[in-house]
Amino acid sequence: MTTPWTARILTLFPDMFPGPLGLSLAGKALQDDVWRLEAIDIRDFADDRHRTVDDAPFGGGPGMVMRADVLDRALDAVTVPGTPTVYLTPRGSRFDQAKARELAAAPGVSILCGRFEGVDQRVLEARGLMEISIGDFVLSGGEPAAIVMLDACVRLLPGVIGAQETLEEESFEHGLLEYPHYTRPAEWQGRAVPDILLSGHHEKIRAWRLAQAEQTTRQRRPDLWARYLETQS
Ligand code: SAH
Repeated sequence: MTTPWTARILTLFPDMFPGPLGLSLAGKALQDDVWRLEAIDIRDFADDRHRTVDDAPFGGGPGMVMRADVLDRALDAVTVPGTPTVYLTPRGSRFDQAKARELAAAPGVSILCGRFEGVDQRVLEARGLMEISIGDFVLSGGEPAAIVMLDACVRLLPGVIGAQETLEEESFEHGLLEYPHYTRPAEWQGRAVPDILLSGHHEKIRAWRLAQAEQTTRQRRPDLWARYLETQS
């Protein structure tokens, strides 16, 4: 049997894992050995009595920086040929559904979670790490970003979500945001469900949903809309 998709995480807070990933869909899949998670304490790779992992920045300024030598040893423990190694940082390229698909298709992912002001630039260059950001905001550490990224990847693994159509119709899969959903009751607080959805006319429903997806994308995400128009022409 081949090894399941494996996430290896370098962190100063291994207790944060699996966290939310231990529940619901991802948690069930973890239990069923569809994927595996190893959280490794970066402090195990320090070489002094105080288990120091950080130091003051050269050039001055606030905060502390994670040391290249300690991280280099830690990265040795999670580096697997053929498996991408990611450093989560606001300076990275933006995480998106395409990147989630790419990582889900790999044998797994190794993730370095930063803390403090971040990590010594030299270790990023020496190890050729893939730098990824989950958005234009600053977290206090890479751990919540790792949980977000892993959640997006794990739900794409075969067998985690029962119906594959669920995945195929979702936002971003065809460059559009998803159409709106409705369920019972058919009328609620004076608001009716769009008639077309009760018509049973599958072709018309499909057309209506596509029109809704296009309208929402055009209004909310001009960037996605422009790219969508390009791919359509
Ligand atoms: N001084 C840094 C921010 C450090 S935040 C800067 O201005 O760029 C501490 C750690 O949190 C980072 O090392 C990184 O691992 C993580 N982090 C913060 N925001 C993030 C984001 N948007 N995406 C991914 N990781 C993030």
